[in-house]
Amino acid sequence: VWGRVKNVCKQNGLLILSVLAVVIGCLLGFFLRGKQLSEQEVKYFQFPGELLMRMLKMLILPLVVSSNMFPANLVQATFQQVKLIPKPTVAQLLDETTTRRVYIYGIQDDNGTDVQNFSLDLTPPPDVIMKTSPGTSEGMNVLGIVIFSATMGECFGPTTEECTHMNGIIAELYFPFGIVFLVAGKILEMDDPSAMGKKLGFYAITVVMGLVLHGLFILPAMYFFITKKSPIVYIRGILQALLISLATSSSSATLPITFKCLLENNHIDRRIIRFVLPVGATINMDGTALYEAVAAIFIAQVNNYELDFGQIITISITATAASIGAAGIPQAGLVTMVIVLTSVGLPTDDITLIIAVDWALDRFRTMVNVMGDALATGIMAHICRKDFVKEGEQVRAFKAKS
Ligand code: ASP
Repeated sequence: VWGRVKNVCKQNGLLILSVLAVVIGCLLGFFLRGKQLSEQEVKYFQFPGELLMRMLKMLILPLVVSSNMFPANLVQATFQQVKLIPKPTVAQLLDETTTRRVYIYGIQDDNGTDVQNFSLDLTPPPDVIMKTSPGTSEGMNVLGIVIFSATMGECFGPTTEECTHMNGIIAELYFPFGIVFLVAGKILEMDDPSAMGKKLGFYAITVVMGLVLHGLFILPAMYFFITKKSPIVYIRGILQALLISLATSSSSATLPITFKCLLENNHIDRRIIRFVLPVGATINMDGTALYEAVAAIFIAQVNNYELDFGQIITISITATAASIGAAGIPQAGLVTMVIVLTSVGLPTDDITLIIAVDWALDRFRTMVNVMGDALATGIMAHICRKDFVKEGEQVRAFKAKS
């Protein structure tokens, strides 16, 4: 038995360390909450965690660029395999994402101070081009980078360099340490949990239950029905990525780790990962869509607003659209909630009601977002497998001939 335990520890060393780091982070956070640290001390304490976030974010750009610098005809080929998805759907998704960015004007908390400060912009069509180019005044536009680098790839051919080995170094050396401080730092910062109302507690439980149902049953079932392979084995391969998404609340920051897990543990063809994963991390957010719908219904109930069946359907559709428009960063879903609330005439100010618990719910929905992307990549790899086999045979035949 001892030998087996040692073997498991050896194979899953990093995963075990990461789980331990989350537990230690929680304990440390709650212990230090009792010590009444000053704001300055909390800031210093959060520094190693912030450093981890920055290291991960630093990898997104090279990863997405190098991932997509391959001829666009492969992208076309990939999508043509999926007879289930009509081509216009992809175009529609991109259109939604690029044209429907809505931001909130200064959400305020009870004391009247600004909690979030965003501008409202319903993008006019010419702006689509701006949104699909990489540099924006708001920082990095991942969708723009995907499109830019795919175009560059078409001109210059495939790039050779991957940056996954960079992930390896960061992962092994710094992850567990950074996670302790990331988790503990967040616990130090959060509002007093006892101040959380009963209603808010029920709302949080409903969201978590929905996420559990979707993440543990619906998504794995879809994977199983399409691929006829075990979702448990597949999910075991991406555990590390799920844990990182829990710690970072960001599917974009988790991207390098999801990439590594799919490549090294699940042995997915890297060409599929390189295209599906970055696009998925930007537009495929099941967890966020689910949460936005529940949050809108909660806000309606708080306001004693009776929703009819049509309005519930409207909420489901706009929540999906809003999740496509949300960036893969912490609490982005809270921002795009405005689309959902305005669609059925609910007060957008009431988003402040759910801010207190959002830091926690964000972690769980990000986990489901990452799981959705990873399973979608697996499904795509399954659908395209025959063509890769054929392609391999052609290459071998060509090599043999020459
Ligand atoms: N944090 C989520 C993600 O990165 C987005 C959100 O729902 O706020 O996937």
